[in-house]
Amino acid sequence: MKLIFAFLFSWISLIFQSDSGIQPKKITDKWFPEPDIVINTPAFQKKSGFTNHREMMSFLENLKLEHPQEINIEWIGESQKGKSMPLVRIKTSNKTKLKVWLQGGLHGDEPASTEGILYLISEIFKPENKDLLNHFEWAIVPMANIDGYENHDRYAANGLDLNRDQTKLMIQESISLKKALCQFEPDLALDFHEFRPYRKDFLEMGTAGLGSAYDVMILNSSNLNVPQNQREITQNYFVNPLMEQLSSLGYRVHDYFTTDTHLNFLYLSQGSSNARSSATSFALTGAISTLFEIRGVGLGRTSFKRRTHSTFLCAKSYLESAVKHTDEILEALNHPSDNNMVVIKTQNDQNDQRVLMVDLFTKDTTSIILPTKDAKNLVATKQRKIPQYYLVHPSAKAIIDRLSWFQLSHDTFASAQTLTIESYQLKESCEPSPIEFEGVYRQDCDYDVVSQTINLPAGTLRFPVNQRKGRILLEILEPDVPNSLMSYQVLNANQYPVLPYYRLP
Ligand SMILES: [Zn+2]
Repeated sequence: MKLIFAFLFSWISLIFQSDSGIQPKKITDKWFPEPDIVINTPAFQKKSGFTNHREMMSFLENLKLEHPQEINIEWIGESQKGKSMPLVRIKTSNKTKLKVWLQGGLHGDEPASTEGILYLISEIFKPENKDLLNHFEWAIVPMANIDGYENHDRYAANGLDLNRDQTKLMIQESISLKKALCQFEPDLALDFHEFRPYRKDFLEMGTAGLGSAYDVMILNSSNLNVPQNQREITQNYFVNPLMEQLSSLGYRVHDYFTTDTHLNFLYLSQGSSNARSSATSFALTGAISTLFEIRGVGLGRTSFKRRTHSTFLCAKSYLESAVKHTDEILEALNHPSDNNMVVIKTQNDQNDQRVLMVDLFTKDTTSIILPTKDAKNLVATKQRKIPQYYLVHPSAKAIIDRLSWFQLSHDTFASAQTLTIESYQLKESCEPSPIEFEGVYRQDCDYDVVSQTINLPAGTLRFPVNQRKGRILLEILEPDVPNSLMSYQVLNANQYPVLPYYRLP
């Protein structure tokens, strides 16, 4: 009987999934009630659907009419379908202390990110937020993936994921975003998303399935090539206060996790150190950075005000923390902790995590304990000495393009030079993976680092590691790091048994 009921229940859930999402109203009312606030952004002016590009632009243009001196709208590029990508620049005072980058809509089916940012832009002009407004110079991309957003689709128009493209930079929107962000050089860089609470794995649990009970998950980078003082400041001055603040307002919060299965065995994967995604990429280019996941994908318009408010609260808490700790932030970003080693490979911690779920059958919350691969606590298993410079042969165009999009400081040899450098030599022939990942066939190859004296031509580019964005060089150029340019076959490994770029110790 119980089984038949559960079966009927999942059918009913599926029928209602299309317009109101999968979640029964009883659960929404009990665990995810709407906050008692008024939000006047475009999606809240209509009964269904979300803000489109045209509505966003007219919202922004109206705000600009109200604040013509402070707001500037720049165009940083075009979507694949030819829609202009706006960057909202705000500067009200000449005494700004910090630069902040905010972006939403990188995944097109995560609408509370864009809506929350639009809400924030209108709120910061209210008199009570004047100090906050004046403290920062702002650069805001409310809708990063316009084509995806208008289709309510996670991916860009060519089917690729903009948040797997932060090192390989093969999607035109990613290149525009990376150039704009790296030119702006933010101190604080925040990326807003939504997550799917009713993952397939969870729906197979319990009588009628479970879903995540969290309103917000927080993903700050644990990548060991991000300076330690920068990671500590992010955790202690930003993540911890936000967690306390959200909890005190009745919003449930957890470190970011996702699920995976191994041999039919479900486990959690917590945290992330992947430079292919925003939080780590932004941190490696010298910003205090976090990716926020709001509970939303698959819910339609359910709890949309709560989700938009959650986005807003995350941003506001981080901005207030930044005001409070401005000196410490600047000190850490300008004097990153020394690390003589570049971390090539790491190992996750293994532990058990208790997570809070909602039960679709009982309509109550329940906690479950799952084995966890925890990337929040990484141990380095392979390292090599940090070089002082990377030297790039002028023929390596695909590499030079990407370094130029990151806008890294460098100089260029005016004449040929003979130097003792370290080259990367392929240990044995290395075949790319037969399985396509994000438009490429990845390669995971082993290299020897060999000291040799060579002649480098005029036009060779020299990039110092010791610069604000210098840590990104380690992750994109060391070929055996997980998200390096070589791992994405920006150059084919077998065609370059010796790589056309070098380390200068
Ligand atoms: Zn996302």
